[in-house]
Amino acid sequence: MSGTFPALDERGQKELVGALLQWSLANGLTMYPPEFNAYLVAHAPVTLFPTPMPKQAFELGLQVQKEFNKVYANIVAEKKWLNEVVETLSTYDPEFTGKLFEVYQKSLVDGKSVQPVSLGLFRLDYMLDQVKNEIKQIEFNTVSVLFGGLSTRVGQLHQYLNKLGYYDRDYLYEFYDDIPVSSLDHDLARGLAQANEHYRNVCSPSTTTVVLVIVQPNERNCFDQRHLEYALLSDHGVKLVRMTLEEVMKSTTVRETRLYAKQTMDEISVVYFRAGYGPDEYTTTNHWDARLTLEKNLAIKCPSLLTQLSGAKKIQQELTNEGILKHYVDEKGAVDLAKTFVKIYPLDDSTQGLEAQKLAQDPEQCERFVLKPQREGGGNNIYKKDIPEYLAKLPKDQWQAYILMEIINPATHKNKIIRLGKVYDEEILSELGIFGTILFNEDSGDIYQNDNAGFLLRSKFSSSNEGGVAAGFGCVDNIHLV
Ligand code: ADP
Ligand code: MG
Repeated sequence: MSGTFPALDERGQKELVGALLQWSLANGLTMYPPEFNAYLVAHAPVTLFPTPMPKQAFELGLQVQKEFNKVYANIVAEKKWLNEVVETLSTYDPEFTGKLFEVYQKSLVDGKSVQPVSLGLFRLDYMLDQVKNEIKQIEFNTVSVLFGGLSTRVGQLHQYLNKLGYYDRDYLYEFYDDIPVSSLDHDLARGLAQANEHYRNVCSPSTTTVVLVIVQPNERNCFDQRHLEYALLSDHGVKLVRMTLEEVMKSTTVRETRLYAKQTMDEISVVYFRAGYGPDEYTTTNHWDARLTLEKNLAIKCPSLLTQLSGAKKIQQELTNEGILKHYVDEKGAVDLAKTFVKIYPLDDSTQGLEAQKLAQDPEQCERFVLKPQREGGGNNIYKKDIPEYLAKLPKDQWQAYILMEIINPATHKNKIIRLGKVYDEEILSELGIFGTILFNEDSGDIYQNDNAGFLLRSKFSSSNEGGVAAGFGCVDNIHLV
């Protein structure tokens, strides 16, 4: 069945919703509601139906992921260009990019990282351009990518509903032919386990090693993280301990460059950041001290500060220049990767930048663009007609810190979103995330492991510009291939 959605009557939808809610709660497709108690959970916001995705477009995403992993590993290992870009960005954004860069520099001993090996759990976000029917890149994420656990489960949920005939109650047949399920939780766990294994082989710890995950306080999306923890333990026998940035200084200790969890004195092989990507998370010097302590030791970081910084939107923009891209990937790779790009402009004084300044300030042309600062985590972008007004208020010497990106226009679909038990019947549009893991050496450039790691579909009402699931605009979805 291609590109259509089941037409259910009221009774059919009610039965479907009942089955969906109980499956979600029974299988941990869950999230804490706002203002939560630890013992009361809610289903995660999801779509009732999977959303169509052209097979060819999806496969291109899978195909280019390892090349993209490599490009970013190469950028980090080469260092020189990344350092230059980040140094410039730091002058415009001293409070955050500048501080991260400063902590990176402070963490070096004789100009080198204490642990050169680095783990990337990356997610590349795309939208499907409805005219070309091709996936186009939104952004490359190098830190704290989420929904590994929930993505697998929403695929299983849609498969269950399909198999049980809830999508066609009258005839009880399977409405969809092909609902792929992402193995993200196990794939990301495998990435962490590979880094743990590498640490054990190279650093010969005398005790048990554990993975330390840095989490945000009062995380509503903690079940997503827990699924990863459980997969790591059941698939690989590796334990994971949790800490907030706030707790790091009192709950860890460094001895002879090795990092330990104080309570158990277990040696930490990998520090995995599910926090620490935004300026709001560093409110005291203790948080910055924590970041330095975590960086300056033998544990493998996921990501290292330099890898986190390579996720800057400025780097993404620069990579759309053919010359720069070709420096980091071979000729064929460059052609494939470039298929996923839309035009991104700098806002500086280069020829391209001057052209972009004109486009951004033009009341009609600006409708084709989104203006992005160097920030992560949603809610920071300026869209379309808001751009000229925003720039008018922004001192000109700050413009360079932004990129101007063409808006991708995906098709909208008549799927339905369920959030806290209520069904919303509005047009949705979707964003596809393709994951990859890479274990590499930031000094030598050696790549030890480079793998695909599943996918994620997030959808949101087409009326909203941004799709933060936790923020309440969006939901977790799954693809069905057409
Ligand atoms: P962040 O680092 O804050 O997540 P993103 O670049 O991912 O920044 O942008 C946030 C959201 O804005 C995206 O998830 C997407 O919904 C929307 N968006 C960003 N860039 C584009 C674009 N070029 N075309 C359409 N929507 C976009
Ligand atoms: Mg994003």
